[in-house]
Amino acid sequence: MISLSDNYIDDADVRAVSSVVRSGWFTEGKKVSEFEYAFAKYVGTKYAVAVSSCTSALHLALAAMNIKDGDKVIVPSLSFVATANCVLYQRAKPVFAEIDPTTYCLDPNDVQEKVDKKTKAIIPVHFAGHPADMKPLMDLAEDYDLKIIEDCAHAVGALYKRDKTGSLGDVGCFSFFSNKNMTTGEGGMITTNDIEIARKVRLMKSHGMNRSRWERYQQASWRYDVIALGFNLRMNEMQAALGISQLKKLDHMNDLRIRNASKYTRLLKNEYIVTPKVMKDIKHVFYLYVIRLTEQVGAPRDEVIEKLKQKNIYAGVHYPPIHLFSLYRNEFGYRGGELPVTERISNTVISLPMHQKLSNKEIDYIAKELIELVH
Ligand SMILES: *Cc1c(COP(=O)(O)O)cnc(C)c1O
Repeated sequence: MISLSDNYIDDADVRAVSSVVRSGWFTEGKKVSEFEYAFAKYVGTKYAVAVSSCTSALHLALAAMNIKDGDKVIVPSLSFVATANCVLYQRAKPVFAEIDPTTYCLDPNDVQEKVDKKTKAIIPVHFAGHPADMKPLMDLAEDYDLKIIEDCAHAVGALYKRDKTGSLGDVGCFSFFSNKNMTTGEGGMITTNDIEIARKVRLMKSHGMNRSRWERYQQASWRYDVIALGFNLRMNEMQAALGISQLKKLDHMNDLRIRNASKYTRLLKNEYIVTPKVMKDIKHVFYLYVIRLTEQVGAPRDEVIEKLKQKNIYAGVHYPPIHLFSLYRNEFGYRGGELPVTERISNTVISLPMHQKLSNKEIDYIAKELIELVH
């Protein structure tokens, strides 16, 4: 079976993790600080705070911005469910806006339609690794005094004009889940230039304690105070060591994805298939390679995925729309039809295998089988 996603681990990664395991210090300390420093430098923000996942990052970002009951946050529905769940954690209301049918990222015009007095923030997702159209979203945020939390789970290393994703909004939230462009097993990062937000998320990720165990250890002092109600959403030293090692080869790993994507796009040029477009002044890092079938293809999407499986090709769907999950239907009364563009796209997308280890032979095979199928 050709897998949909995979990670890219080498001996340097293994050595980095095992040296931490041997050191005996596991909870956040030197390695976490080093990873945060290197990551902030890479993204181009003043601060980076490592956490246990991107879900934790989104949750903490909204908490640090004091998003609460009665507030609204605009999110796309074509995303992983965590993008909207984090709003529910704060007892605020996720408001779904439509996506651009070419990039599958938030449509700024529909976002504007949906802004009202209760709206406090927007969470653009850089879908599949293609940065959202940030300029109009940032203009909107300025006009209506909204915060922007970039969901960068797909887009570590992507560029919007000259800026890295995660450095454009008030906060960037990254994922190092096992199949993302770089991994720490599980893990996440918050990037920001706002010292207040950085301070708050640092506090909230570790019980609201004003000094970490590492700081107390270094100062040989047990004293600490608890100054806010926080959580335990920390990254550990093994994860950070893997993150440091993975970050060093991130650009290379992204180049491999980009190369695989251009190969697919070349081979799939065909009247039955819509391949991903890359807009001007954008670096797309292809966490996913998402195609759509045109209406000329009579067969339903799911049948095509099933047929690919019979050829040992594992294709997927990113994503079923969030607003149509039972949780959201029951909570907010969605029934389908509320977001026609999102729903139409969600019903026709197919994610083809995309990862750094995909060989030319495998891409040739997938393209050949898919073209035969759609014909
Ligand atoms: C993977 C993902 C997340 C969640 O990341 P975790 O690190 O698994 O919590 C959030 N948003 C999007 C768009 C994702 O793809």
